[in-house]
Amino acid sequence: MSNVFRNIPSVNELLDSPPLRQLVDRANRSTVIAGVRRFLDNLRTEIQTATADIKVPTPGELAERIAHWIATEATPNLRPTINATGILLHTGLGRAPLAESAIQAIGDVARGYSSLEIDVPTGERSQRVRDVAEALAHLTGAEAATVVNNNAAATMLTLAALAGGREVIVSRGQLVEIGGSYRLPEVMEVSGAKLREVGTTNKTRIDDYRAAIGPNTAALMRVHSSNFAIVGFTEQASLAELVALSARHQLPLIDDIGSGALEDLAAYGIVGEPLVADSIRAGADVVLFSGDKLLGGPQCGIILGRKPLVQKIMQHPLSRALRVDKLTLAALLETLRLHQDRQTAERSLPLLSLLSTSVANLQQRAQRLAPQLSACAAIKSAEPVESQAYLGGGSVPSQGIASWAIALEPDRGSVDELAASLRSGTPAVFGRISKDRLLLDLRAVFPRDDMRLVEAVQQIQDRTSGEPELGDSDPNVS
Ligand SMILES: *Cc1c(COP(=O)(O)O)cnc(C)c1O
Repeated sequence: MSNVFRNIPSVNELLDSPPLRQLVDRANRSTVIAGVRRFLDNLRTEIQTATADIKVPTPGELAERIAHWIATEATPNLRPTINATGILLHTGLGRAPLAESAIQAIGDVARGYSSLEIDVPTGERSQRVRDVAEALAHLTGAEAATVVNNNAAATMLTLAALAGGREVIVSRGQLVEIGGSYRLPEVMEVSGAKLREVGTTNKTRIDDYRAAIGPNTAALMRVHSSNFAIVGFTEQASLAELVALSARHQLPLIDDIGSGALEDLAAYGIVGEPLVADSIRAGADVVLFSGDKLLGGPQCGIILGRKPLVQKIMQHPLSRALRVDKLTLAALLETLRLHQDRQTAERSLPLLSLLSTSVANLQQRAQRLAPQLSACAAIKSAEPVESQAYLGGGSVPSQGIASWAIALEPDRGSVDELAASLRSGTPAVFGRISKDRLLLDLRAVFPRDDMRLVEAVQQIQDRTSGEPELGDSDPNVS
């Protein structure tokens, strides 16, 4: 048996082999080293426990096997991807990429200890959301602010704290579902508040709200129709009307703007998104939105509004269950700092730099990449085409953003198979299928990733034709 062990090459020898050297170029070195070690451990265990003799493959064969195993089985599902779908805030692809300085801020608090809940000068206990709340108040004009895990949490907590056991009046035209698992009526139910629907799907007037107010009413709520539009004969009560009515009855008005913007996005061709500051200025008592939608920051839900209401929300027991950790706070604080002025925001926040990339730039890149892609063995044709990108994440579904894509036709096999091969490559690339072609939309692709996109397509043929038949590559089974 000891002879058999001697036949196993060392980790360094294996790393020097062509298949593993190639993998190190594409993936990261420590991942490959860890993968080789795990494979060899499994192999040794298998040899020790086997009843019959096991033949160790030749070093070349072994290297091929390990490279294949790392690229397929040993890679976790969660991995960095290139987003060529044209949807900038793709919930499935993790919504907003963070700014470099926000990533740095996460590293700084993650590496060691931090003064998360301690007031530095006095050494006394302090609020973990303090800095973020100040920055939010400064940016939006709100009296007070806090932050929780996401906007679903912000909505649930606000309703539980301000309206538990009582009624909240909402228009039938605003009972939104976001991404399948978020449904306002269901969130309201678990919060303990009672939904009081008024009006109809397409028309709700201020008188409908007025008629529904009674002794059991706790609040009025407006919900931004983030991901749908009702067209034709429609009417919704205005924010000003809702503010006036709720003030007259001394009821809080909760404004869930969901994907609301911090600054006007008209320059990027996106109009009609509610602005957080407008809502505060108009007199909404509590404003809710997602921190990873138009803020371009980490996942979180932001609650802004009048001080006594925000305090009541923060004191509710659910607040502890929904609180954010130091990593989120560090990234959010830095993201808010970058939003202090427009130019810094555009230069440093990936979401805004992607949005502000000129159409001419995307066209040039598509035209430069197309011939390189059509030269790949797996590709029959690659054509630069005009495209429509979308903000996504439940935001502004009806407004396309001008973009360019490269439309790919596979050399053989179906377009679905081509899409699947690209998804499982290194780097993983996600495109969008349209009319039997795979579109690689450049709106959400960082220029630094253009060449990696080409390399990912080049690799497809390598993977399907360049490797020996391996059968089952799990060393515990083979
Ligand atoms: C996106 C959205 C939500 C859910 O926000 P998450 O941060 O994904 O939890 C709730 N309400 C509205 C109006 C939204 O747009």
